[in-house]
Formats: sequence, structure tokens, C-alpha cells
Amino acid sequence: MEEKFDAIIVGAGLAGLGAAYTLAQEGLEVLLLERGDYPGSKNVSGGRIYLNPIRDMFPDLWKKAPLERHITQEGVSVMAGERSLNVSYRGEELDQEPYQSYSILRAKFDRWMAKQAERKGAMLVSRSRVDDLIIENGRVEGVYAGGDELRSHTVIACDGVLSLMAEKAGLRKPGSAGQYGVGFKEIIELDSALINERFGLEGDEGAARLFMGEVTRGKFGGGFLYTNKDSVSLGIVVGIKDLIEGQPAIQAPVLLDEFKQRPEVARLIKGGETVEYSAHVIPEGGIKALTKLSGDGILVAGDAAGFSMNIGVTVRGMEYALASGYYAAQAVIQAKAKEDFSAASLASYESMLNDSFVMQDFKNFSEAPEALENHRIYSYYPELMGSIMRDLYNVPAGSKAKLYPTIKKYLGTGELWAMFKDMRKVMKI
Ligand SMILES: Cc1cc2nc3c(=O)[nH]c(=O)nc-3n(C[C@H](O)[C@H](O)[C@H](O)COP(=O)(O)OP(=O)(O)OC[C@H]3O[C@@H](n4cnc5c(N)ncnc54)[C@H](O)[C@@H]3O)c2cc1C
Repeated sequence: MEEKFDAIIVGAGLAGLGAAYTLAQEGLEVLLLERGDYPGSKNVSGGRIYLNPIRDMFPDLWKKAPLERHITQEGVSVMAGERSLNVSYRGEELDQEPYQSYSILRAKFDRWMAKQAERKGAMLVSRSRVDDLIIENGRVEGVYAGGDELRSHTVIACDGVLSLMAEKAGLRKPGSAGQYGVGFKEIIELDSALINERFGLEGDEGAARLFMGEVTRGKFGGGFLYTNKDSVSLGIVVGIKDLIEGQPAIQAPVLLDEFKQRPEVARLIKGGETVEYSAHVIPEGGIKALTKLSGDGILVAGDAAGFSMNIGVTVRGMEYALASGYYAAQAVIQAKAKEDFSAASLASYESMLNDSFVMQDFKNFSEAPEALENHRIYSYYPELMGSIMRDLYNVPAGSKAKLYPTIKKYLGTGELWAMFKDMRKVMKI
């Protein structure tokens, strides 16, 4: 008799791995297909994962997981052309176990997690690209990969942003440029002692910094820097619409080069060697851009469904990927117990997500994409803050002006009114 899997998972990123691990743990027959050389080889993240929302879904994983440093230092840098305003935060709670968040290298972590899923019984085939879905009588019955026809009760599409599988199943329509960002990232090797010295860290403590303003030449987006054990992850994310429509046109990789040359960054990475360069699209459309989550014989998880979110102070996608993979697996486990893999049965996935932090977050931050589209956030305010700070700290040859008038000269009625309107938008986040 022809072999039929309980689930075929397309893509071994964190969504696929979360689903495979959960299904295999419950003894279901799982096939995980990954087009890359190994899980993690094609996956890009800035590099920071928050564990609290997903800790209990994978309780056995975290003690041994190859995570890099736990983040004890947060930083935001508002960059004007020639100056920057830097705010940093260090809190005792960030240095207490269980740690809230870690820096992470996907090439290491995904490969390791795939091994854990295989140990539980999942079958992983790398270098295997899924070309199409098998759809019969409107129902997904498996996939075509490398000339093979592979059958299953369910397919879980975890093939990342621009998911071809979700599109083929009629669950996703191609989005608009405004719903995506593109990220460029380097991993720069640096001695761990040097990292500790430059960032004021000890042992496995880590630092996270976000940058906005001139780093994207005023375009929607920002920069990030995370310290790993013996490297630094440095990159930028820019809105694709801004890149296409912005005048004068710029090549996004040029922004990363300029970012590296900023004195605030250059001195942190000095002497380091770039050992990895990657670029990737990131969904940023929020709740309005999510795909349909399930259909007859198919579920969609992770970036494939649009589960990535940028709210300025955090960029998150990894725990949404792991969690949505977990809930997709739970829906399949329930369907298997009922011997009912129909669309109605698999819709329990959406109910579980609705009750979880994933959809709650997407509802809470439903206004974020539009509020953050405001270009004044990335050009006017960084320049304004930079100018005010410059004047406040300036001691001229003559007498120094009083502090309030120094600030007030930048804040005429017109400016205050525009700021009030901007603030009203930001208050919706
Ligand atoms: C620059 C950048 C910075 C980011 N920073 C952060 C951050 O700091 N923190 C955070 O939480 N999130 C961050 N994100 C978002 C996060 O990386 C993603 O949300 C997350 O990786 C999504 O995981 P996934 O498993 O859904 O997709 P992916 O990791 O993209 O995995 C999809 C997998 O499917 C495979 N695949 C695709 N098509 C096929 C096919 N036809 N057949 C077989 N295999 C296929 C791919 O090879 C890939 O391995 C960032 C993203 C970018 C681009």
C-alpha cells in the first residue's frame, strides 16, 4: 500500500521545526522537506528570540539549546546625519533566570532543533524542493517534490514569506510592496573578550541595539545589532515600498555599508571579520496581511502566514513561527484522533491561534504598520533631536542661552501641531 504521512511539512525553518517536533513527539508520521542543504542554511533573522511566550510549548528544548547570549542590555540609537541620541536600558530582571531573550544564530539553532525533531521520529529530507501541491477534488492530498508524488493527510506550509504553497492552495494572494520589508545582515566575527569589553558585558551577557533615522536615510525601517558569543549580528531592514518609490533611488546594500561606517557602529565592530552575509524579505503587513490559515488538508504557519511583526522597539517573527508551527501540529494531532482531516476539523488551528499570544499580539498591534509608515519618524524627529541635543550641550565662546528658549526655538506652533498629530498615531501602537 502507498505510504501516507499524517503530515508533510514544507520548509524546515522555525515554523516547520516547531510543527515537526510537536507531531513527532506525539508519535505521528511526519515528513519534513527542506530545499536548503540543511535546516538553517537559508534562514535569516536579525537574531533575537524571546522565550517567555513559547517556553512551555517546548519545555525540554531550552536547557540544551545552542543559544548565544542572554540579553541584559537594551539600546536604541536615534541617528541624525552627524550625531545621534542613544538610550540604553539595563534591568536586573533581564539578568535573572529564566532569561527573557537570547541572541541566536539560525544556522546553528535550526540544525540542532532539526536533530531533536529527528530524534523524536520526524523524517527530514534536506535538498528537497517541493514544486507543487497534490490537489484532488479541491482537497490537498500531498506534494510533488523532485519528481516524487508524496501523499499525506495534511500539508503544513512553512515555506516562509511569499509562500508558494499557500498561494497554490488559494489561501494567499500576492501582497503589495507596502506589506514587506527587506533585510540585509552580516555576521561579524569578534573575540568574545573584545565583545564584553566594548559593550560592557560579562560572561554570557548580551546586548541588543536598535537604530533608526539616518541609518535608512529616513526611509521606513531601521538597523539592529545583537552580540553573539564570538560574533556580532548587524543589519538593516527597509520597507520595500520606500525602496522602490523613494527618490533618489538607493541600493539597500549600500545602506548597510554606510551603517557600518557610522562612528557609533564602526568602533564596535572594528577588527571584526564578516563571515556571513544574507538578505531576506520580511512580512510587515500586520494582521490585515495575514493569509487564510487553513483549508482542506492544509495549514499555513510562520512567515508563510505573515506572522512577523515590527513595532519599532521589537522585531519578532521567530517565536510566532515556533508557536504557529506548534498550534498547527496540535490541530493535526486532534484531527488524527478524530480521523477527520477536513477543513472544518483543521480550523481548530485558527481557534487555538486566536486564543494564544500570537493573535492577541497581532490584534494589539494592528495599528502599528500604519503608525510606523510616518516618514517624519525616520527623518524629521532624528534631526530635530540631534539639533536640540547639540545646542543643549554646546558652550559657545560667548554666553550660553537659557535652556528653555534653546529648545523652544525648534518648537513653533506649526511644529507642535504636527507633533501632536504624529503622537496621536503613535499612541495607537
Ligand atoms: C533581516 C531580518 C531580521 C529579523 N530579525 C528578527 C529578530 O531579531 N527576531 C525575530 O524573532 N524575528 C526576526 N526576523 C523574522 C524571523 O526571522 C522570521 O519571522 C522567521 O525566521 C520565520 O520563520 P519561518 O520558519 O516561518 O520561515 P523561514 O525561516 O524563512 O523558513 C522557511 C523555510 O522553508 C524553506 N522552503 C521554502 N520554499 C520551499 C520549498 N518549495 N520546498 C522546500 N523548502 C522550502 C526555506 O528554505 C526555509 O528553510 C527577522 C527577519 C529578517 C529578514
